[in-house]
Amino acid sequence: MKNISIIGSTGSIGTQSLDIVRANKDLKVVALAAGSNDKLLLKQAMEFKPDIIGIWDEDKASELRTALSEFDIRIVSGMDGLIEVASYVKADIVITAIVGMIGIRPTVEAIKAGKDIALANKETLVTAGHIIMPLAKEYNVKILPVDSEHSAIFQCLHGEEDNKISRLLITASGGPFRGKTREELADVTVEDALKHPNWSMGHKITIDSATMVNKGLEVIEARWLFDVKPSDIEVVVQPQSIIHSMVEFEDGAVKAQLGTPDMKLPIQYALYYPERRYLAGDRLDFTKMNGIVIDKPDKDVFKGLEFAYNALEKGGSMPTVFNAANEEAVALFLNRKIKFLEIYDIIEKCMEEHKLIPNPTLEDILNIQKEINECIKSKY
Ligand code: NDP
Repeated sequence: MKNISIIGSTGSIGTQSLDIVRANKDLKVVALAAGSNDKLLLKQAMEFKPDIIGIWDEDKASELRTALSEFDIRIVSGMDGLIEVASYVKADIVITAIVGMIGIRPTVEAIKAGKDIALANKETLVTAGHIIMPLAKEYNVKILPVDSEHSAIFQCLHGEEDNKISRLLITASGGPFRGKTREELADVTVEDALKHPNWSMGHKITIDSATMVNKGLEVIEARWLFDVKPSDIEVVVQPQSIIHSMVEFEDGAVKAQLGTPDMKLPIQYALYYPERRYLAGDRLDFTKMNGIVIDKPDKDVFKGLEFAYNALEKGGSMPTVFNAANEEAVALFLNRKIKFLEIYDIIEKCMEEHKLIPNPTLEDILNIQKEINECIKSKY
């Protein structure tokens, strides 16, 4: 029996993780945490009967205590609650399905408590990869990628531990605006940006896919997960989202992982690594495919990639600025306070104005996030 804790259980990755638990008798949910969706968290608590649940707001926690009074479930709130759920003593593995930099502290504490991490929350590695990866090594815990691209690379690298990687090829779908010009993007709406062609995901990552900031975040995530030079990470557009990513080795061989666009596969792979289990769902039918398309990304229009490579080149606190500015800008766009292209303007300005901290501590990272949050909020 593997005991699982999920932070962000009510979101896209969280609910799909629970589908995997439902389908496998040897997985048990022992702890869950959510942000605001108390109704769904209540349902999940009644179905999975974990030992502990967390919700951000203390008033909601209090209501849940009343609603779950007949159950033996401890109910916690705020950051302390999130940390308690992430480091719960009975959990073997924590799925970090929470969105944004709020995932950093619970992830750090989970690692210190010796939990393996099934990592979906890429913002944690983007901003604090230089802290997380050595910490995981020190505490002898695994960081198992859930992001489909990184899971694909991880699967390709299985059995290749002693072989030299010459390139990682990260695939991008291109998002809903692939092929569009800057002029055409000027007035796109939130609804247009949320129409992802292949994946159904949370709002923040869907907007990140439309700007290609998501691919930029993934480049930085890959740099930490696989310890490769930024110049050895290339992004290619694969609009069908069938090739989830590829690895080129020094003899020129390229390994790829293919499959239908279904996040349950990488989630399940992380939970059972290195074992593969049956997973219900569609299978690829190569005879019905009209060729597999691979294209170059349009870096001039979708500046998310350029920002990420710049942030990696500058290093230190710059990836935090890139990520924190993006989180704020995306929230403003989703609240209809700025236009789509202004997301790029905000990130660019924050990166230009930032005074680099070469080796930021956790405290520095969280302070930068706070400063950027306050700075952007004062202007919009
Ligand atoms: P969603 O927006 O669907 O879900 C986010 C989850 O985080 C929700 O459960 C939400 O709770 C929870 N949350 C937000 N704030 C808090 C808080 N303060 N305390 C506790 N929980 C909180 O996001 P996704 O599932 O799409 O993405 C999650 C992460 O996984 C992101 O980092 C994303 O980049 C990454 N990822 C997602 C993929 C996908 O297919 N969705 C693919 C690859 C990576 P509530 O809803 O109750 O407010």
